Amino acid sequence: MSEILHVDCLVIGAGPAGSAAAIDMAREGLKVLVIDRGEFPRFRIGESFLPRTKRALRRLGVLDRCMALPHARKVGVEISMGDRRYGSRTYFFRDTIGNGEKDAFNMARIHLDMMMVEAARDAGAEVRTSCALRSIQSHGDDGIIADTDAGTVHAKWMIDASGQASALGREFGTRRYHSFLRNVAYFEHFEGVIRPSGNAAGCFGLTVMDEGWFWLIPLDDQRTSVGFVAREPLHRSLDVAPEDRFWWAVERTPIMAERMANARGPSTNRVIADFTYRCDPFAGPGFFLVGDAAAFLDPVWSTGLTLGLLAAEQAAAGVVRMSRGGRPAVERARYQAWAKRVVGRAFRLVEGFYDPGFRDLLFAPSQPRELVRGFVTLLAGEFDAVQPATAVRCWALGSMCAVQKRVGFSPRTRPFRLRPDGVTDRAPLARLARGAALQ
Ligand SMILES: Cc1cc2nc3c(=O)[nH]c(=O)nc-3n(C[C@H](O)[C@H](O)[C@H](O)COP(=O)(O)OP(=O)(O)OC[C@H]3O[C@@H](n4cnc5c(N)ncnc54)[C@H](O)[C@@H]3O)c2cc1C
Repeated sequence: MSEILHVDCLVIGAGPAGSAAAIDMAREGLKVLVIDRGEFPRFRIGESFLPRTKRALRRLGVLDRCMALPHARKVGVEISMGDRRYGSRTYFFRDTIGNGEKDAFNMARIHLDMMMVEAARDAGAEVRTSCALRSIQSHGDDGIIADTDAGTVHAKWMIDASGQASALGREFGTRRYHSFLRNVAYFEHFEGVIRPSGNAAGCFGLTVMDEGWFWLIPLDDQRTSVGFVAREPLHRSLDVAPEDRFWWAVERTPIMAERMANARGPSTNRVIADFTYRCDPFAGPGFFLVGDAAAFLDPVWSTGLTLGLLAAEQAAAGVVRMSRGGRPAVERARYQAWAKRVVGRAFRLVEGFYDPGFRDLLFAPSQPRELVRGFVTLLAGEFDAVQPATAVRCWALGSMCAVQKRVGFSPRTRPFRLRPDGVTDRAPLARLARGAALQ
């Protein structure tokens, strides 16, 4: 006979977002069951973090454990066009406004995610792996009943942290895709990669072209994660096998061909879809959505983990307050408003990257220092507590982008093209300008 389990909170998914929520709730004395359909340790992509991630891990009390694992310090972002025509630009976290962390780190997720699961267990949560959510029998403010591989779970609340599987978003049909951020990533880990150096040492390397972009993420002293993200017009039309597309793009991109000249690693690549989406509403009767289960953003600015950890903190706090008599409707509304605001800010930052006016300003010969500081503060992941000083600068930057698009007061950049015949679809950018990107 199937087991019947009674818990305060059921968490679906033991990735960083699920584990973080479990840590907070278990420490407050709640009975927490985390189930994950996979096994740990396990591979995950998403290896570069932001200063705000560091602060979130510090608050959880796991930053020291993290720093004891193999990692590489990250001091900022180096951005170049694929052919070096515009040189490179560096944006450093030390220029952020306020007293937040001034650096971040990169780390293979196999280490980070395992550490988070162990920390959740240490905090008192029960974590069951190879244990999937099968279906939701019922949910409401009086509790939820879920069928899982562990048996039937009766929980007072549930947090969906199931990542891109978006268990509840799919169940409720609330997942909405972005109209043109429908990219695909091709990536691997290598040794012998030439990393950003000199002034840019310790930076995340971002190489931009019309049809996509490359990431270059030092993971530790030897290994570097390198990935190519292809925009939809390219990945849909390219007559190259998916597992060969990474090297196809490297060979056509001068700066990447140089950096990968002596790289040792696989000759084929892994593939993952990175279609931007959100599952709104982010909370409902008996449940909250956190991390990728709530929203997934194009990873260009490495925002994923930060958003997941911040959302986990908010959702866990909501559950704890309800366990002490807080009103469910109030907690739902509070979380919904918070998530909309914070995810919306990160969305705008990501959409900016694909905006030609913004790109012109990224490479502009002269850049007002104070505006750069506003941009860098958002780049550091400060989405949840934007100070007026940052908000004003970002507003000014947004206005400058709009003017640049229309009158071009700064030199226009001509994007590097992987395929000189060009497959870029400019229509989405017009939709972006009209603010109609989310379907
Ligand atoms: C190409 C690419 C590059 C990225 N780069 C970065 C980066 O540099 N920096 C960054 O911060 N982020 C990056 N991200 C995003 C980052 O990977 C995610 O935001 C992060 O992994 C989300 O964590 P999570 O805990 O929400 O989900 P996950 O880490 O995906 O964990 C979800 C867990 O839920 C489990 N699960 C799923 N369905 C079920 C079910 N039915 N029952 C039980 N368990 C289930 C899964 O097994 C999984 O372990 C990138 C993403 C992509 C695609």
